[in-house]
Amino acid sequence: MKVQSTRLRFARASWRKIVFFLPLIRSRSDLIDPNPSGHGGPSPMKIHEYQAKEILAKYGVPVPKGEVANTPEEAAAVARKLFAEGAGGVVVKAQIHAGGRGKGGGVKVAKTREDAELHVKNILGMQLVTHQTGPQGQKVQRLLIEETAAIDRELYLGIVLDRAAGKLVFMASQAGGMEIEEVAAKTPEAIFKEMIDPAVGFGAWQARKLAFALGLKPTQINQAVGFFQSLYKAFIETDASLVEINPFITTKDDKLYALDAKINFDDNALFRHPEIKALRDVAEEDPLEVEASKYALNYIKLDGSIACMVNGAGLAMATMDIIQYAGGSPANFLDVGGGATQEQIEHAFEILLSDANVKAIFINIFGGILRVDRLATGVVAAAKNLNVKVPIVLRLEGTNVEEGRKILKESGLNFQVGATMKEAAELVVAAAKGVK
Ligand code: GDP
Ligand code: MN
Repeated sequence: MKVQSTRLRFARASWRKIVFFLPLIRSRSDLIDPNPSGHGGPSPMKIHEYQAKEILAKYGVPVPKGEVANTPEEAAAVARKLFAEGAGGVVVKAQIHAGGRGKGGGVKVAKTREDAELHVKNILGMQLVTHQTGPQGQKVQRLLIEETAAIDRELYLGIVLDRAAGKLVFMASQAGGMEIEEVAAKTPEAIFKEMIDPAVGFGAWQARKLAFALGLKPTQINQAVGFFQSLYKAFIETDASLVEINPFITTKDDKLYALDAKINFDDNALFRHPEIKALRDVAEEDPLEVEASKYALNYIKLDGSIACMVNGAGLAMATMDIIQYAGGSPANFLDVGGGATQEQIEHAFEILLSDANVKAIFINIFGGILRVDRLATGVVAAAKNLNVKVPIVLRLEGTNVEEGRKILKESGLNFQVGATMKEAAELVVAAAKGVK
């Protein structure tokens, strides 16, 4: 649900953009993730701040002392412990897969245990709205309770892939704690960049250059070099697609910390990291998308009324375009893939139908690897099994199309078949309008 409206803003702008920017929309990072999964793949995997900090700490990146809590009692216990160990204050931080929590009221500092408990009560369970969640927000189910740091400066660090250069880029900026896209747009010169040669890796000299560019004190330079190198090592060894520390802070007593941490992973490499895969929090994802990912379907929920079942991302994109052109609006992006099985088609139907906005279904298939007759068999079986009530319009072309059409005709079910893509789009838009 929560992911949706961010996407919808894009969606309204242009369908073509949706697919093109799909990875970007999905990343919901403080920064656009330039390394999503490849064509047709699922989204990059995201984790919570507390999980990112646990990983970074293993690589020697200094993070504030703290623990995650799932209930008010656990949170109170963590706060009590931190105060008992000498903390001057604690910060209560909402754990959701979106940035901008501070501005949205999801990050609060407390000087006493009582204040901490009050913040816990207010934040845990709240519907936290940030610029990355969309207006409906995201329910806070976990908190990170940390010792506060005596912040001197808030800086920015990020590692991402620069696709144009074909290299990782290590970025640093004195403009920390802000939205980095804004910095990049308004004052690009405020972001220092070091391109990383894949054959050589991130050099200590580069780390030093960035540390000086950040205006760090001489007493902080060596610490910073170690910090940046640890960050880079964590990125490489976890097969990350994005690592971002915003803010990266210096303290009044000259220490450095990752005060916030975001890591996205390249899901194509997740098979090498079962321990990272296990960090997935499906409570943060759209339930229908979670369901779709179980069956390797590329599904993204949108806010229109016409469900689309299509094979191939390019055709899916064209289908969304033509629905718009015919005066309708798509309820989803769905690519069932080139070699969809009957089982996948049934699951795809279930997912489409569990969206209450759906008034008609448009199946637009070009049979290549996926033979049209097999698709037709799957569609008929699914429509019967699931007792589909909404009208279904098909446009079919390709291998075994005649057999496919015959199977549909002989099913006794009420399918409409468009002779062309345009005609089918017009039929489905009319069908959607005719249903209450
Ligand atoms: P985000 O808004 O989701 O990016 O969450 P952050 O973890 O970056 O926190 C937002 C802001 O809260 C930071 O930029 C800091 O200004 C502030 N903040 C976070 N932790 C602390 C802390 O330990 N002490 C103080 N004084 N401020 C903090
Ligand atoms: Mn942040």
